[in-house]
Amino acid sequence: MQSERSVQKFHVVFRPNQKGLKFYVDRNQTKHVFDLLIRRLTEKGPPYHSAHVPQANQFLPKNLEKGSREHAIFLFMLCLWMRGGVESDTAASLLKEMYEKKPKVFLPENYRLIEGESTVKNSELNKKQIRKISKTLTEFNLGQRVEENGSGWVYNMRKLDRFWQGDPRELMNDRPDFDMLTKRIKGKTRSKEGLFINEDNPNGFMYFREKMVAMIAYFLMDSKLVPMFYTPVPVDFHVLRLLTLTGIFRVEGMSIEEAVGVDFYTAHTQRLAREITEWYCRKFHISPIALCDSLWLLSREFCRDNPGNSGYVMDDLRKKTIRDKRNDIPGSSFLFDELSKDKKNPVISKDESSDGYLNFGFYPPDDISGRKRYRGLRWNGDIWDSPGRVKRFNRSCGQCPVNDHCHYNISSGAYYTSGKLLPERLRQKPPAHQMDFFGHISFASSQKVKVDQTVRFAEIHLKPEGL
Ligand code: SF4
Repeated sequence: MQSERSVQKFHVVFRPNQKGLKFYVDRNQTKHVFDLLIRRLTEKGPPYHSAHVPQANQFLPKNLEKGSREHAIFLFMLCLWMRGGVESDTAASLLKEMYEKKPKVFLPENYRLIEGESTVKNSELNKKQIRKISKTLTEFNLGQRVEENGSGWVYNMRKLDRFWQGDPRELMNDRPDFDMLTKRIKGKTRSKEGLFINEDNPNGFMYFREKMVAMIAYFLMDSKLVPMFYTPVPVDFHVLRLLTLTGIFRVEGMSIEEAVGVDFYTAHTQRLAREITEWYCRKFHISPIALCDSLWLLSREFCRDNPGNSGYVMDDLRKKTIRDKRNDIPGSSFLFDELSKDKKNPVISKDESSDGYLNFGFYPPDDISGRKRYRGLRWNGDIWDSPGRVKRFNRSCGQCPVNDHCHYNISSGAYYTSGKLLPERLRQKPPAHQMDFFGHISFASSQKVKVDQTVRFAEIHLKPEGL
């Protein structure tokens, strides 16, 4: 019996056949939800009162002149780590340290090739430059994906130097529309064998796709390095999750309830997210910086903390180890539960870390790590048995400006292990008597939170003229 319960406890709710599903955006709902978020941001209420963004001043090197070309280069290079896999604030802090100690590696002119521009002719020099920067990155604990980022660093620096006066601001000083900006920044840069290609074309930077195009525009506009213009927000898991949770994304012919199990992570929903965020900003003269902050920080600070969104992630080797151990004790499954509950070595992910990378809260012991698999939402009927989880709910959803519009539980586990964005059930809420918000005095007082003075708040409303 115990064994059955343990096995049944975790399963992924997923519709394998999604053929013919058509996604669309509910514009009225978009307006309603975005208005609520922007209003909360205007009030500097939770979670915005204490949330930091990676381009904020405290993450900038002390020896960097604000507003300079070097400032723009620093943010441009930071984008390489905004693709996931490392917390954005951590990446910014590490890159800051690297700049403070080695500012020269941030100068595009230092990556010039000699005797012609092609890396074919200069393959040895190219390899040497990549090896050198990779070593430096590793030295400053930026070794995550270093084989990619080392190449990206050299390729992008060189292209900036050759075609854009060594200055990323040149890419958008003329306030291009997003299609034009994407044309300049996105492009093929590597062959199948991983060799540099497209080097003689000014357009195309390595590891920049639409999300990073919007990200560098967001960074540079926010830092007042380029004039403000309308762009979509950088669309990542957090943004897509929020648009799904709040019923902005819908599936044609399906009610909210019927869409449980649909994978909302598609090229189409990403495009819809770009279109709808730019539409809202243009139509209501809202700064894309403010909209980006309001979406991204809410999911990062609050949704991740909702215990209903916690997922269970396991890896192959761990599974085998557990199975082997279980087999040692015939008929027993307690090791499974024991490992799941062990606070020092939790097998279960909380949700994800602050900018979307899985946070296991631990580094798996060597003997039970391996390829990760998502196993489903962490708690089912037993979710509100723990006062701690109720508290977490009250601290997150309980203070959320769109609490009344949020429909699902979505874990980041499915996304970070298999690229799926799955509403696996309707959002679970504690019994009414356990909730200490909805008009309760403690919720009202949470609106008067102390604002962290080091938080930077973006300007929200833009003047229509001139944009
Ligand atoms: S109600 Fe909770 S899960 Fe829903 S958007 Fe707000 S914080 Fe996220």
